[in-house]
Amino acid sequence: MALIISGIGVSRGIAIGNVHLLNRGAPEVFERKLEEHEVDSEIERFVSAVDEAAEQLRGIRDTIPEDAPKDVATFIDSHLLMVKDSMLSKVPIEIIQEEHCNAEWALKQQRDKLEAVFEQMEDDYLSTRLNDVEHVINLIQQILKDQQYTMQMKLQPLKGSIIVADDLTPADTVVMQNQNIAGFITELGGPLSHTAILARSLGIPAVVGIQSARSLLKQEEQLIIEGGSGMVLAGMDENTIKHYRHIQREQKDAQRKLGSLKNISAKTKDGQRISLQANIELSEDISALKKSGADGVGLYRTEFLYIDRETPADEAEQLNAYKKIIRVLKGKPLTIRTLDLGAEKEFDPDFQGPMTQNPALGLRAIRRSLKDTDLFKQQLRAILRASASGPVRILLPMITSHNELTQSLSLLDLAKQELTEEHKEFDADIPVGGMIEVPAAALSANILAKQLDFLSIGTNDLIQYTLAIDRIDDQVNYLYDPLHPSVLKLINLTLQAGRRADIPVAMCGEMAGDPRYTRLLLGLGLQEFSAHPSNLLEIKQIINKSKISDLEKQTKKILSTTVPSKIAPMVDALNQ
Ligand code: PEP
Ligand code: MG
Repeated sequence: MALIISGIGVSRGIAIGNVHLLNRGAPEVFERKLEEHEVDSEIERFVSAVDEAAEQLRGIRDTIPEDAPKDVATFIDSHLLMVKDSMLSKVPIEIIQEEHCNAEWALKQQRDKLEAVFEQMEDDYLSTRLNDVEHVINLIQQILKDQQYTMQMKLQPLKGSIIVADDLTPADTVVMQNQNIAGFITELGGPLSHTAILARSLGIPAVVGIQSARSLLKQEEQLIIEGGSGMVLAGMDENTIKHYRHIQREQKDAQRKLGSLKNISAKTKDGQRISLQANIELSEDISALKKSGADGVGLYRTEFLYIDRETPADEAEQLNAYKKIIRVLKGKPLTIRTLDLGAEKEFDPDFQGPMTQNPALGLRAIRRSLKDTDLFKQQLRAILRASASGPVRILLPMITSHNELTQSLSLLDLAKQELTEEHKEFDADIPVGGMIEVPAAALSANILAKQLDFLSIGTNDLIQYTLAIDRIDDQVNYLYDPLHPSVLKLINLTLQAGRRADIPVAMCGEMAGDPRYTRLLLGLGLQEFSAHPSNLLEIKQIINKSKISDLEKQTKKILSTTVPSKIAPMVDALNQ
């Protein structure tokens, strides 16, 4: 009988293969009080297990092919660092000495303490790092129990299998990739776990968060996993398998074709060159950026330099972070958005104030920066100094009034003056752009355009503020509609303002990376798209098959359509 199970799809693609069940979780820990004379040999046993864990990880690291994404080695390295960290390699020794616990028990006690610390962290990303600590501890525990799972896995023929495990470590993922597995399912983990990120980097279809996967699925039974939607199918008939094999072939062909577009520029059939830029944020986006063939970075979100860390990055650390991307871009422009703190993205309790009813309407983005000019100027100085190493543009978030722009530009002048006095180099003509994210900015885009070198439409916020719906509120996000006539009018107004002022207008919200809207945006006159690197080749493929002159008439009709429900089918028709 067919069984459909749904989990969290974390890495796209279809895998068809037979189940290989694995138990990778924490081994049961045997607790024993030691006699005084046993303490030294127990410490030796612990030290040699830690050394063996490091040795295994180094061995796996050596099998990573040179052309594999950098993340792969980085994650294994981070586990290697954890093995050697005194929290894991020294503190358990103290526990053995002081409490006369056996090694497994001492390590378990340390694990419980670390877990308590991690659980207090409210941030999703940081709390997933507990997962990494657990992976490393389990590896040491397994070695202490002499199970050596990772080694065992290396010896098993896994080619073409779908691994079904309670949890997998990044090291497991590398070993499995070397064995050419078809895909994997885990009971634990989320989209931000290192194992999920690695699966995406390595192109292994993967579904996580299926809680009782190992009891629902049988060893050797045939499965289909759909890593995009998170769907898992078991007990299928021949026709279903044939159908999915067909989709799998089509997807692989489409992927191959997209890959061949990397070094071709985006140009419409009527010869209009379109700039395709990348949105980046965390370091794992850099390898995706390299593969995307992007014309530059259109949005570098810098909040990670301030939040989820003990103290905000100082000028020197920021400068280093910016220079790292400039080196990757090799002369292509880097657009750095100044800090978009505030609301839920805040690190300084002094700026949080009493819990506000409407944080999205509160002290965020440029408003927050203009209240803390020391912090803002420090970032402007770092950006200016980075501009001495390559083409850099400054992007100001959530500009709403002319006044905010004037104040920001004065602060930039002050930063330039300071750097000149300090004999530090920078690009004196660094372009400054403003994000159009609130209706007020779109309505006065023609005024803002006079003072700016470029505009960039942030549709995520523009839609939120135009339609008055909180973009992270599940109750109302069904109302979130990029095709709402009011949203389209504001986008159009902004594009017109850019044309009149003869300055470029980019779009960097999610709408720019959604292939359903590419032709509509081309018809409206958008010539700079900025999206997550993984979306760019698909967008390029559509652009290269489009003719703007064919789209303009239809887009005008869409703009004059006032009934929202009629717009979506008209936009779909552009894609036929
Ligand atoms: C936007 O609002 O469209 C945007 C790109 O900014 P963020 O998603 O970072 O708010
Ligand atoms: Mg925004």
